[in-house]
Amino acid sequence: MKINRNFLNLKDSYLFATVGRKTAAYKAAHPGREVIRLSIGDVTRPLAPVVIEAMHRAVDEMSRTETFKGYGPDQYCYGYERLIDSVKGSYARKGVALDSDEVFISDGAKSDLGNILDLFSVDNTVLVPDPVYPVYVDTNVMAGRRILFSDANEGNGFLPMPDRLVGADIIYLCSPNNPTGAAYSRDQLREWVRYARERDAIILYDAAYEYFISDPSLARSIYEIEGAKECAIEFCSYSKTAGFTGVRCGYTIVPKALVREGTSLNRLWARRQSTKFNGVSYITQMGAAAVFSEEGVREIGENIAYYRENARAISECLDRLGIWYTGGKNSPYIWLKCPFGMTSWQFFDYLLEEANVVGTPGSGFGRNGEGYFRLTAFGTAEKTREALSRIEKLIGGAQ
Ligand code: PLP
Repeated sequence: MKINRNFLNLKDSYLFATVGRKTAAYKAAHPGREVIRLSIGDVTRPLAPVVIEAMHRAVDEMSRTETFKGYGPDQYCYGYERLIDSVKGSYARKGVALDSDEVFISDGAKSDLGNILDLFSVDNTVLVPDPVYPVYVDTNVMAGRRILFSDANEGNGFLPMPDRLVGADIIYLCSPNNPTGAAYSRDQLREWVRYARERDAIILYDAAYEYFISDPSLARSIYEIEGAKECAIEFCSYSKTAGFTGVRCGYTIVPKALVREGTSLNRLWARRQSTKFNGVSYITQMGAAAVFSEEGVREIGENIAYYRENARAISECLDRLGIWYTGGKNSPYIWLKCPFGMTSWQFFDYLLEEANVVGTPGSGFGRNGEGYFRLTAFGTAEKTREALSRIEKLIGGAQ
């Protein structure tokens, strides 16, 4: 018996463990102080009432023989038509027409981002932005693929563009980006689509934060770009859009026009899913189906507006302090340059010890994250305001 030795090449995930350990140690040593976390990537607002009502109705259906549901429908890899139709409706509002069998309901974007790699040979070279959500790197390390990085930095606004000298077969794009909050414009995405098509490469487009986009010049789906259906798979999630981090539901779009080596990737993915996945619970799917209803859009909009307001407050605080940052406008993440020339971890310790505020060191997201720091807008408004007043007093006083 041999294990998959690629797992031994994974770097330990120090980032959140170390943030947690340092925070706990500080709290234990200073029990009287209130530590505020602006580090969380999880949401804090509860589910929208329309979602809760839909889930209650689905639970009641499960209690009666006539309306009880077992496995979901095979036809769409266990996705219910009501949910698939609502996803199609949300794409139609972005000007993108989809067929029902191009929409795959998932238990969230993370699983599908990892599972999609079943479709591709390990001989492919992967291009991953640096810094970014660590799942793209780790899932490819597990498979033993060669990974190249596209540098995101202040010079390119943390939005790397294609480099014609780099030969990549699988290209990850995350927009709006975690951790930098930077988001691609349609023109920029047009270049990526052109590049992918020239190379016969495939773009894996992570749109988990698309609902935070308010600027109309930014794309909310890669399929807004002509030709993207022939070169891109898109991953979406109800987690940040509608507070489903604990409920678990997302959707992945694999267009039928996506063909490589004469084989439809849509067919391959359907085959993969029907073999290794048995669907998302009916109750969850009915809750998700309420998200893009008229009332749902209004209600989740209130939660998004709440987080946006936190992001605006963080951005304004950094503006007043003259600290460089990106994100915060079309994203729940604010990515700032550590003041006083500090490294990411130095700034983490400084904020924790002097202001009792916790953020996330940028170096944990990739080499180019060193010297940067991530704050999130997912906290409560009161705690966010309190944390900002402490940061402003500390840094403003030291400048
Ligand atoms: N993609 C990005 C960029 C994320 O930041 C996250 C979660 O933080 C995910 C995907 C995972 O989303 P889900 O909860 O749907 O698995």
